[in-house]
Formats: sequence, structure tokens, C-alpha cells
Amino acid sequence: MDLRIAVVGSGPAGFYATGQLLAHKEASIAVDLYDRLATPWGLVRAGVAPDHPKIKSVTRVYEKTAAHPLFRFFGNVEVGRDLTHEQLMAHYHAVIYAIGTAGDRRLGIPGEELPGSHAATAFVAWYNGHPDYTDCEFDLSAKRAVVIGNGNVAIDVARMLVLSPEELAVTDIADHALEALRHSDVEEVILLGRRGPAQAAFTNPELRELADLAEADVIVDPQAVELDPASREWLASDAADMTARRNVETLQQYASAGPAGKPKRIVLRFLASPVEILGPDRVRGVVIERNELTAGGDGALRARATGERETIEAGLVMRSIGYVGSPLSGVPFDDRRSTILNERGRVIDPTTGQPVPGAYAAGWIKRGPSGVIGTNKKDAHETTTLLLEDHAAGLLPTPAAEPDELIAALRAQGVRIVEYDGWQAIDEHERSAGEPHGRPRIKLVRHEDLLSRADVSLTRD
Ligand code: NAP
Repeated sequence: MDLRIAVVGSGPAGFYATGQLLAHKEASIAVDLYDRLATPWGLVRAGVAPDHPKIKSVTRVYEKTAAHPLFRFFGNVEVGRDLTHEQLMAHYHAVIYAIGTAGDRRLGIPGEELPGSHAATAFVAWYNGHPDYTDCEFDLSAKRAVVIGNGNVAIDVARMLVLSPEELAVTDIADHALEALRHSDVEEVILLGRRGPAQAAFTNPELRELADLAEADVIVDPQAVELDPASREWLASDAADMTARRNVETLQQYASAGPAGKPKRIVLRFLASPVEILGPDRVRGVVIERNELTAGGDGALRARATGERETIEAGLVMRSIGYVGSPLSGVPFDDRRSTILNERGRVIDPTTGQPVPGAYAAGWIKRGPSGVIGTNKKDAHETTTLLLEDHAAGLLPTPAAEPDELIAALRAQGVRIVEYDGWQAIDEHERSAGEPHGRPRIKLVRHEDLLSRADVSLTRD
């Protein structure tokens, strides 16, 4: 064996990096893939919306990677809890961190902590059956919800709030969420963008598919999609991309089509920022302030408050303004970007400015939370290419011990490791449970149930 590599995080970036290393022809490489959960796939399992099964089918590619004889999965092992960065470095030639950015960005406005005000990331993890979020509670008794943000997560959350029970019942949504949403009183979701239609971060299919909702109309005020001169000029320039142009076209079509009389609605509003969430006991409303666009020094159009305010009555607020990464002990962190400190995937020592030998990053914890699943393939490729270059140049450290010694030590300390066959047992169970109901799977949503199904024993000593 030429190289033993640990990849931490089994989402798309971790799996693409693993697949690329295992496919490398000039060296024989073994990859151990660690995840803090008993289940692999990261945001493909815990982030992609339940009504997007096609997006989830990407796991077939990862399953092929997992079938490689030099691949091993070690689930339910958390770096920082069960083992340290230093331990990994002592047992592998290199470590790639692909741990994502699980935290949520905050608005920093009064009332953000009121009951009924939530991070969209928590709602997403809850409806997708992430075991850390199973006991979260979302009061869906209000008629109006406000979702803050104009990205794909915001649009997922808005859609999930108005999908009919019949549309949800054929998905792999967690049972607790299916039940809660079945009894939801939410009839209107206001999707709030701080900038204009041309600056929305939605991708085109996600914006277009809102037209297909069985029970909800999409409402856009025709005046709101009459672009300001600066946006018009930007959209016509080379700087604008096709996504923005198509989004504006779609929004204009929604505005001219008007409502079809469906019982629920998603209302897209632009150029407005929340400045306060009103209580006092729970969310009762959101004060928004109208913005105008102004060009910054770099030419980008930014939102500037006009002072004109309005109160929207609402009982539920979801802030969907992006994810942030968290530091891992012993691994240099870039506080400004909330990512691991790195250059193109090589982890950088902040004191020397030089790469830390054998330490790498891939995916959102490397570049920040942007792009779609496929973006991580290219991103991981950049990292694995540099790793292999470093290997060829003799720059990777020689590990002091074998990975099996680390695994034995983890077992001895009582860590209930779930290997790939344990995950396959979970997968098989979930799929069989879903089949009679015409669902792709019924997820196990508690750590203990996942571990029992993976059939692991508590301690091995
Ligand atoms: P995102 O695409 O970066 O969108 C974040 C949104 O929050 C932007 O509209 C941003 O507006 C807004 N925002 C940030 N700070 C704000 C503030 N203080 N007040 C009001 N609005 C604020 O992030 P995301 O939706 O979390 O998605 C993360 C990534 O996952 C994206 O690349 C997304 O495409 C991807 N994703 C893809 C899918 C899919 O393919 N179906 C599904 C989910 C997520 P500004 O532009 O003005 O900053």
C-alpha cells in the first residue's frame, strides 16, 4: 500500500474525493471515510428536500465508490469527540476534511430568539430526519410564515411549508415531519429577498418548479419585477449570468400570470430586510424595511435601507441566509470566511503561511457554502490533485502507526463504529419499511435506532 488516507465527512465532497483517490492509477491508495453519523451521504440525506428524489439518486455514484476493495466506512465516529486531528495525522499519510458547514448564519436583529423564529437549517434537518433534530418542535399553527433569504434553501423551506400531505406522503420525509405538516395551518409563505429579482440566488429549475405546486399559487407583484436601471444595465452586461436572466424571466411570468385560485400561496417579495421580529411571547410579526440598490466599490449591487418600514403579521419565521462552518480543534480556521484556512484545499498554517503537511480540505468547509452537489466534484478534484502532487514530491508525512491501531483504540474506548455493512443494514431496513407505502424509505431518526439496526455491540473490550 502506497498511501493510507482518511477522509472526514461522507457528503458529496468527501465521497468525490474518496472516489478520485481510489481511482488513481499510479499509486495504490486505501481510503478510510469517517462520519459523525451512522449514515453516509451528508446533505444528500439530511439537506436535499424530500420531494427531490432525482437529486438524491447521485448516491448511486457514491455506492460504486464504496464497493472498492480499498474503501472502508467508519460511521458514528466524530473528530473532536472520539478522536483528534493529531491522532488522525499519526495514523494516515494525509487527512482530507470535508465536514461541511453545519451552523446557521444569524440576522442579528431584535426578536430573533423568540419562539417561532427558527434557523432554516434546523427545519431542513428536522424534516429530513437528521437524528440531532428529531426532537425539535415547529409550531405550524400560524396562517402566515416569513422565510428570509433568496437562496435555494429558502425556496426548499417555502415549498415544504405548502406542499400538500399527498405530495409529501410519497417522499422520504421523516415521519414526525409528515405528521406535523399534515396538520399545518400555514396558508401563506412570504419569501423575502433583501435585494432585487436580478440578484436572487435561486437556480432556475428550483424557481420554475414552484409553478407545479398542487395547492399553492406563486404571487409576484408586477411592480416588483420592473427592474431598477442599475439591475437592468447589469443584466444586459457580460457580468450577469444566464441564471439571473432566466430567474428574472420566470419571475416576470409569475407576475403576469397571477393567481390560479389555489388554496395556499408563496409570495415573493424583494428589496426588503427584516429589522425586528415582534413578540412579546412568541413571533407575532416581522418589521421589514424597504431597500434600494446601490453599487459598491467593486461594482456589485448592494441593498441600502431607505427608512421606509412596514409590519407583516406572521407567526413563523425561518431565517435562511446561509450556513457557517465551525472550527475543529487543531485545524487552522479562517474566522472571516468560517472555513478551514486553506489554499485551493491545502490547509495553511497561519503562523508560517505554509501548507500543513498532509492536511487538506474539500467542499463547503474549504470554499464556503455555495454551489450545487456537482460543484463538489470539481472542488474535490482540485484538492486530490494537490494531494497527489504533494505525494509525488515526497511532501506527505510518514504515519507513525497503522489505521487499524486507531480503529482498535476507538473500539476499546467504547465507540460504536458503524461500518459500511452496518449502513447497508440501515438502508435495507428503511427501504423495506417504505415500500408498502409507496415511499422510497422510512428513515430511522434516532441515534440509538440507527446504531441498533447497524447491529453493533456497545463495547468490544
Ligand atoms: P445562498 O444561495 O448563499 O443564499 C443565501 C441568501 O440569503 C441570499 O439570497 C442572500 O442575499 C441572503 N442573505 C444573506 N444575508 C442576509 C441578511 N442579513 N438579510 C437578508 N438576506 C440575507 O445560500 P443557501 O440558500 O443556504 O444555499 C447554500 C447553497 O446550497 C447554495 O449554493 C444553493 O444553491 C445550494 N442548494 C442547492 C439546492 C438545489 O440544487 N436544489 C437546494 C438547496 C441548496 P444576498 O445575495 O443579498 O447576499
